[in-house]
Amino acid sequence: MPILRPTYLEIDLKAIRHNYAVLKTKLKSQSEILSVVKANAYGHGDVEICKTLEKEGCSYFGVATIEEGLKLRQQGIKSKILILSGCGTKYLNVLSENKLTPVISSLYLARHFHENLKKKMSVHIKIDTGMGRLGIHAEKAIQAFEEISTFKNIEVEGVMSHFGQSELPKSERTLSQKKKFQEIVKVASKRFPHIKYYHMANSAALLYDLKMNLDLVRVGIALYGCSPDLSSPNLMKKMNLKPVLQLKTAIWSLKKMPRDSYISYGESFKTKRETMIATIPLGYADGFKRAYSNKGCVLVRGQKAPLVGAICMDLSMIDVTDIPGLCVGDEVVCLGSQGPSEITASDLAQWAGTISYEIVTSFTSRLPIRYKS
Ligand SMILES: *Cc1c(COP(=O)(O)O)cnc(C)c1O
Repeated sequence: MPILRPTYLEIDLKAIRHNYAVLKTKLKSQSEILSVVKANAYGHGDVEICKTLEKEGCSYFGVATIEEGLKLRQQGIKSKILILSGCGTKYLNVLSENKLTPVISSLYLARHFHENLKKKMSVHIKIDTGMGRLGIHAEKAIQAFEEISTFKNIEVEGVMSHFGQSELPKSERTLSQKKKFQEIVKVASKRFPHIKYYHMANSAALLYDLKMNLDLVRVGIALYGCSPDLSSPNLMKKMNLKPVLQLKTAIWSLKKMPRDSYISYGESFKTKRETMIATIPLGYADGFKRAYSNKGCVLVRGQKAPLVGAICMDLSMIDVTDIPGLCVGDEVVCLGSQGPSEITASDLAQWAGTISYEIVTSFTSRLPIRYKS
């Protein structure tokens, strides 16, 4: 089907290869990157991203759900796949038939696996060191390992935990989590020498040098060149990480509006002068958030043009009065760079009062993805 609408996500595979290589240099020699590709690789297209990273030597991927893991297997991804966000007790066959590695986050679940597994399965055990989400309480971890070690079909390949605020590496909470996990690693690595992987760090932990010297680092957002930390807008540049995703469209319609005209639904914007309004075919149904209305901007001819009036479901309006000589069809960059200017996922996040993670994972399937290799 031809692409009739000039609106698309452009994914720069060269940038993700670059980021992967840069992030690898930050690891201790014995550790590996587990590339987190949940939520369609943070909106970047999981299959292409996995194929690209596999070629770069990535041998472990992390997804949130069994369905995400299955899709990758069906598309020919051979590397190990860890199901990060837990799984119910019903799908042991699907897991073992597809060589998907589940994270077990309670003793209850471990017992269920034990009672129902007909052959050996590798699992990772999740410990709650202070995130307050999934996982066995840190205080009960060793005792739980003792019991699990008697379950003959459960092979504990990994033990993991997760930070609640690794973007604050010196906070009391972070230090307490780190200490709890390190104590568990110390005891467990003696008692259970077959456990291959201990892991806790995510992107911010790696970038902020929360040195754990463990075996895997689970990197998501940083691979995509987006900042895990809104309060540090230059972090990505400082770390030499490049944005992978751009959102592009083109001017769809262009017209002069007299002074005192309302633009879009409601009365949130009224022209204060004779105004050249360009309409772009992109709206909140694409994941271009309504919260950007009258707050954000886009790039045209390398210059910033403000979004005016409410973002609609399928269309948005920009004020291009100060950028003369435009034509219908001229490129508009809504996330990414054009000439000397750039709009990052953190910028969009700021306008919408959220984080870069939510921006990139909100783009909908109506946006086609074009890959640049
Ligand atoms: C999503 C996720 C990650 C990746 O986090 P980033 O901040 O994107 O690097 C790591 N670990 C777990 C358990 C996750 O769910």
